Order: sequence, then structure tokens, then C-alpha cells
Amino acid sequence: MVSRVIPVTSFDLVIFGATGDLAKRKIFPGLFRRFLAGQMPKDSQIVGAARSSLSIKTFNDLVENSIKNFIEINYHQEDLKNFLKCINYVQIDATGTNGWNELKKALRPKKTRAFYFSVSPSLFGSLAERLHNYEITTKNSRIVVEKPFGRDLKTAKELNAILAEHFTEEQIYRIDHYLGKETVQNLMAIRFGNMLFEPLWNAQYVDHIQITVSETVGVGDRGEYYDESGAMRDMVQNHLMQLLCLIAMEPPARFEPDSVRDEKLKVIRALDPVAPHHIVRGQYGPGNEHADYRTGVQNPKSKTESFVALKVNISNYRWAGVPFYLRTGKRLKARTSEIAVVFKEKPHSIFGPEAGNHQNALIIRLQPDEGITMDVTIKEPGPGGMRLIDVPLDMTFSETLGIDENTVPDAYERLIMDVIRGNQTLFMRGDEVEAAWAWTDPIIKGWIERNDVPKPYESGSSGPQDSLTLLEREGRNWRQIL
Ligand code: NAP
Repeated sequence: MVSRVIPVTSFDLVIFGATGDLAKRKIFPGLFRRFLAGQMPKDSQIVGAARSSLSIKTFNDLVENSIKNFIEINYHQEDLKNFLKCINYVQIDATGTNGWNELKKALRPKKTRAFYFSVSPSLFGSLAERLHNYEITTKNSRIVVEKPFGRDLKTAKELNAILAEHFTEEQIYRIDHYLGKETVQNLMAIRFGNMLFEPLWNAQYVDHIQITVSETVGVGDRGEYYDESGAMRDMVQNHLMQLLCLIAMEPPARFEPDSVRDEKLKVIRALDPVAPHHIVRGQYGPGNEHADYRTGVQNPKSKTESFVALKVNISNYRWAGVPFYLRTGKRLKARTSEIAVVFKEKPHSIFGPEAGNHQNALIIRLQPDEGITMDVTIKEPGPGGMRLIDVPLDMTFSETLGIDENTVPDAYERLIMDVIRGNQTLFMRGDEVEAAWAWTDPIIKGWIERNDVPKPYESGSSGPQDSLTLLEREGRNWRQIL
């Protein structure tokens, strides 16, 4: 089956921070893939903007190299040449006056205009102000802003206020790339497109839900930033919170931006404060020939967490009493992101106690190998008594539908196309981000007040022992990080 591509209208996309890591690793390769797929019209224009003084030729070389380094599919040189014809570059200072008139001249009337702020959030205000003052934006223009969106409620409110001075909420696209993943959207299709699951999706049938986002990498060269942030701010407040919302929200009336975002917001607002004994913080030690966290961030006394696990309760009619266990960390055993909806035990087993305990689980895997599996209980084949085993019913769509995974857009490219289309469904609204910080802030404040020191864990492990205990003491277990 070939995935259907609906071309977007021709556009002018300005990428501030065009010489940066994100642009090189994700944005240019992603746009090229959409170009190859026929979704990006050939008369679109991509304007790179950064402080570096680069000729068009040098900038084209940078884009070409980023595509060569970060694209795994085969393509014809002719296609790359045609894509590079869409590329332009303007040297610009986000905080000064250089380049703004040139940028204005480079943009074409009547094209959809989008401005991607792939720069430090400290520059968002200057960019927004200059785009407005130089009359570069139109009523229909969009801006895309990257994470981190603030470091607490106060700074998030300030950022929202700065952007709101020059743009309406309908023009602001706050990216959380987790929302652009195919499986995340499939999660909504599974929940709201089938009769099968939704009747079971509540406290009566669900025992608990686990959300795991584990990384094998350490802080890398983001040490300074990460040490100021930690896993709670870097991962939980945004990515894990978004996954939690999609799993827990009520069915929106329509698959439309504000219907979906209203329901997500209600979930965040229904979250209980988290008791200190329901949180485990960790910091990785050495292991697998890697240095420990403190060496990585060059801060021998750092108390920042590279791992966090929490038990979260949602106080509403659907989820009262169902624990949501969230965990994320760096330098763990494997790179995996998954959501597991674990159903309750049957009220009665006709097979007797020797058949053992069996709980169905729906596993939504975001990476690697995006897909969905359902653990079902069957009879173990062969002679003898009625022995039961759990087997995964694999619903990996690329296999079932015969889709070449290389043609499925990755999160960034899908989201950029949504910006051009003007569809905000998969972007965070300002009030959602603020509500997420309002819930996160007291947790972080509590750590500071208690002078909390994260528990050490070995690199390459599943995190601190206390995280395992968090579930074990309630008669449950984390799924293996594989
Ligand atoms: P980066 O590699 O440090 O690049 C920053 C970019 O901003 C460079 O192109 C730089 O170019 C430009 N810049 C800096 N000061 C400027 C100014 N005064 N005027 C105009 N341009 C300026 O950063 P990054 O990793 O690409 O990250 C960009 C944003 O995305 C950040 O907010 C980051 O938190 C977010 N993000 C990044 C990733 C990732 O994987 N990298 C993931 C999620 C979110 P010049 O030096 O040439 O001006």
C-alpha cells in the first residue's frame, strides 16, 4: 500500500537558526523528504536565517551535507539539485537590525508564510518583535517555536505574553515532536476509531498505565543546558505529559485543534499533586565505559536528575484509583518509548489457580519500531492440561499494510506540513503548557526545599532500585526496558 500524499500549498518558510543542530539534523532532511514525496510544491521557498555570514553557495553546501548525513533513503541527485533551488539564505541578527530588510524583500506576496524559531527561547521575543516591526508577517503568517517553552510557570507565562504581543494564539505553533509521531496519532485512531477499546478504557477495566521513555545516551554536549533542566523539565513536563493526555483524555467532539486540546487540558488540570514518596529521582553513575553524569556536566556536586519515575493520579470519573506510572531517563539499558495499558485480572478464572495470573496489555510503541501490540492469553499449544500463556498480537502497521517505513513522514516533517496547512491539532496551546508547568513546579520546588539528592544508578541499567520498588510495593512491575 502506498501512503497517500496531499500536497500543501506553495509556501515561504523562514528558518531562524538555520546553521544550528536541529535545522541540520531534522528540519532540512525532513523538508527534503517531503519534497521527494511530492508534498512540498517545487515553487516553495526555504529561507535560512542565522548570524553567520554565508554565501548562498556555502549555505547550499550546508543543506546538502545535512541531507547526505541524515537521510537514509535513496534519492536521485537531480531531485537534490531541484530541492536546493528552493533554498535561500539571509544573514540576520535576531537582536539587531542587520538582515531584516533583506528578509522582507526575499519573501513573496500571496504565499503562505511560516517562521520557524529554531533558536534559543531567549531570542523568541526579539524575533517576534522584529517580524512585526519590519512588517514581515501578515495576518495569515505562522510562527513555530521549539522547546523548552519556559523553565517554570512564570517563564512560560512570560514567553506566552511576549509572543501574544505580536501574534494570535492561532498563529503560534508550539512544537512537541512526540505529537508528530505516527503511533501517537494511531493511538487516537485506535481509541476513537474502534468500538473495541473505548468501553474498556476506564477504572473498571484498566489496572494501571505505564509510560516509559528511556534513552541510552547521556547528556552529550548539552551538559550545561541539561544540568539546569533535568529529566523533569526536559522530558516529563512536555513529552510524557502529552502522551499521558492522549491516553487519558475524553473523546473530543471532533478531531479539530481546540476540541482535542480542550480535552488534553482537562486531563492536566485533573492531575493530583504528587506525594514525595511517589517520586524517584536518579542520576547515572559510570558504566558501559561511559563517564558518570557529574563528569558529563562538569559539575561535581550536581543534584540534577537524569532519571525520574512517578506515580500519578488523575482525579476524575474515568480514572479515579488507576495509577499512571511515568519514567524517563538517560543512560538506561535501551532506547525505547512505549505506553502500556495493563488491564485488570479477570474476576474469576474458570481454569483454576494453576492457570496463573494473566493480564491483557495494550502496548503502544513509539520507538524503535513504531507499532502496537496486544498481549492476549491463549492456550499453550500441545498435549497436556490447559496451560495458559500470554502472546503478543502484533499490529505493526507497516508490516500489515505493506508500507515502506521510509515513506512514512517522521515527526518533524509531518508537523512542518501541518504548520503550512494551518492545522494546530498536534501543537500545544499556551494554556496547556502553562497548566503542565503549574503541575510540575511544586514537584521541583519540593526537591529544592528538601535538598533532595538523586539516587545513583549504573549506566546501562533500568534506573535506580527505588524505581522498581515504587511498583513492587503495589504488587506491580515495570515492563522490561528492551
Ligand atoms: P544550536 O545548534 O545552538 O543553533 C542555534 C542557532 O541559532 C544557530 O543557527 C545560530 O546561528 C542561531 N543564532 C544564535 N544567536 C542568534 C542571533 N542573535 N541571531 C540569529 N541567529 C542566531 O541550537 P539547536 O540545537 O539547533 O536548537 C535550536 C532550538 O531548538 C533551541 O531552542 C533548542 O532548545 C531546540 N531544540 C533542539 C533540539 C535538538 O535536537 N538540537 C531538540 C529539541 C529542541 P549563528 O551562530 O550562525 O547565528
